[in-house]
Amino acid sequence: MGYKRRQQVRKANAARIREQKASRATGTSAGKWWLTPIKRPASCNRCGGALRPGVGRNCVYRRVPETIYCCICAENLQISYRPSLRWEQAAAKARGSKASPRRQS
Ligand SMILES: [Zn+2]
Repeated sequence: MGYKRRQQVRKANAARIREQKASRATGTSAGKWWLTPIKRPASCNRCGGALRPGVGRNCVYRRVPETIYCCICAENLQISYRPSLRWEQAAAKARGSKASPRRQS
C-alpha cells in the first residue's frame, strides 16, 4: 500500500471515528442500530437463533431498548444499521493480516 493510499485511509478512519465518538458523547447513538462483532454467546431476539462469538461473526445491536438481532433478521426487518467502531476495528485488523491485492510500486 502506497503512502498516498494509506493517508486517504487514515483520514477516512479518523473522520469516521470522530463522528462516532461525538455521536456517543451526546447519546444519539443509544437508540440506533449497530453492526458489531459478537462478543459473547447470545440469541437473536426475533428468530432465537444462536449468536456465537467468532471471527467474522456479527450481529445487529441496539442499546436502548436493548435488542439484538442476527444479520438475517436485521435484513428482513429492513433495519438500517451502521458498522460500529468495534466492527471497524475488527475489519481493519482482518484487512491488515491479509496481503494487499493492489500493491503499488
Ligand atoms: Zn434472527
